[in-house]
Amino acid sequence: MKTHSTFVILLILCVYRADALTPKTFGDVEDKISEIKTSAIINQNETNHISKAVIIGSTNVIISDNLPLPRVAMALNDNGREIIISAVFIRALRHYCRRLANDIVALKRFSNKPSVARRLHRDTQLTKFAEAFPLVDKYSATDTYDYGDAVYERLLDVSLSDILLHEFGHHTEDAFHSFRATQLAISNAEKEAERWSSNYKATFAIDEYEIGRIVTLAAVLEFVTRDTENSQHILHWLSYNLDISCNSAQSLLSSYLCDSVKHKMERSLVDSNKYYVSHRTRVQ
Ligand SMILES: [Zn+2]
Repeated sequence: MKTHSTFVILLILCVYRADALTPKTFGDVEDKISEIKTSAIINQNETNHISKAVIIGSTNVIISDNLPLPRVAMALNDNGREIIISAVFIRALRHYCRRLANDIVALKRFSNKPSVARRLHRDTQLTKFAEAFPLVDKYSATDTYDYGDAVYERLLDVSLSDILLHEFGHHTEDAFHSFRATQLAISNAEKEAERWSSNYKATFAIDEYEIGRIVTLAAVLEFVTRDTENSQHILHWLSYNLDISCNSAQSLLSSYLCDSVKHKMERSLVDSNKYYVSHRTRVQ
């Protein structure tokens, strides 16, 4: 009897501990992830890609603390299908999207008073981006319309869609590579995943302004520049990826955001280089 009650207490403790260790802090992001996944399954079924719909349906998406930036997400097919998204990244993304949404709202308010807008933000490309940012229709008809929240949701949505669709592409195309794979094998698998994702986005008009990946890279940039000591190689990696995304983007909106983020990137590279040189001088 004693053993039994000890077991019950232990079990309660375990349940309590498990719940305490996994707080629901990512609820809004988890909801968005399931929305994107459900839409992908429906879209694949409706276009007669039944086997791909089954693959996406059987892929578990997990937000994990064990994936440090600059790694944003990865697709795994070892013990069942999985996509791991970095929890550090999700926090950085939410922070960046909230700040960008606030800037957009403030700059839009003074779009007919350029001198006020200029005083508010010296980044003229960001001002152009804010002016061109589309109104978010589904909120515009309600009385409690909060444009800032709607913009935040849209930014979060395009970034998460871009990430998830790329990782779904690894699964649907069976395009995986190991950490020890050759550069050619890695590049081929990445191209296949990206091809599937781009086709999907074009077919279903996802992120028509092509800003999802730029938002992701900008969020990582903002995060790493807080830690100047280790960021130099990450900045070069980010800069390379930003160039690729910006060169292939066509919309005016993406070109304004690209110019604004590239400007920040250049400043960060200069700062990081100065830090690196001064640090090296000190330790010599
Ligand atoms: Zn990939």
